[in-house]
Amino acid sequence: MFHMLSTAAVFPLLLALLGAIIGSFLATLAIRWPQGRTLGGRSACDGCGRTLTAVELLPVIGWLAKRGRCGTCNARIDPRHPGFELACAAIGALSGWLAPGVAGAFGAAFGWLLLTLAAIDAAELWLPDPLVAALALLGLASAPFAAPELIDRLIGGAAGFASLWLVAAVYRMMRGREGLGGGDPKLFGAIGLWLGWRVLPVVLLLAALVGLGVVLFQHLRGRPVAAEDALPFGTFLAVAAYPAWIAVISFAA
Ligand SMILES: [Zn+2]
Repeated sequence: MFHMLSTAAVFPLLLALLGAIIGSFLATLAIRWPQGRTLGGRSACDGCGRTLTAVELLPVIGWLAKRGRCGTCNARIDPRHPGFELACAAIGALSGWLAPGVAGAFGAAFGWLLLTLAAIDAAELWLPDPLVAALALLGLASAPFAAPELIDRLIGGAAGFASLWLVAAVYRMMRGREGLGGGDPKLFGAIGLWLGWRVLPVVLLLAALVGLGVVLFQHLRGRPVAAEDALPFGTFLAVAAYPAWIAVISFAA
């Protein structure tokens, strides 16, 4: 009994732990990259630059121990730090639980990268090419370990990129301005390499619903969204893609 429990729990636990550590790195990446700051060197306070202690480096626990503030300069620690750590731990646990083994580890990496892209696009309306390329390559690398088959993924990659590129081109022609970010077709293509072409319409529909939900939420809070306002469509795509991975992995099992 105990043995059964431990084997069933080991993948979710390992990936949750790994998620908390990787989340700590990804939060720093998401905060510093748009500011053009380097990622090298020891982790330091974003406010005063003091090098963090061993306890402060612990995911979530470090943030709780300091009550969300730097002990030296009293600057508020960006809530994205504990947020990323918690979210990546949850993604790791869920992925490892749904798909114990290599497929689950790849699924966790999918979720972690999507979260990073979602956060950067939401804050900066920017999807860094290297991150999208990493997502695409990992999608191809995961093909031997999980559904769908490689051919479905390759069609998904091409169809995902081409469909949104076409939408962007038509919009540009009709309105004379950009309606989609340049990174959106690439991200949709990368998602196609993970999920295959069959699931892409569902991802698009989910992303549109998430976007609609965000607009409605802002409207209810008294911040109406104008037609010209730029929305982070990449964030909506990324948020929609992870539940779609769960559906794919669940139906394939
Ligand atoms: Zn400080």
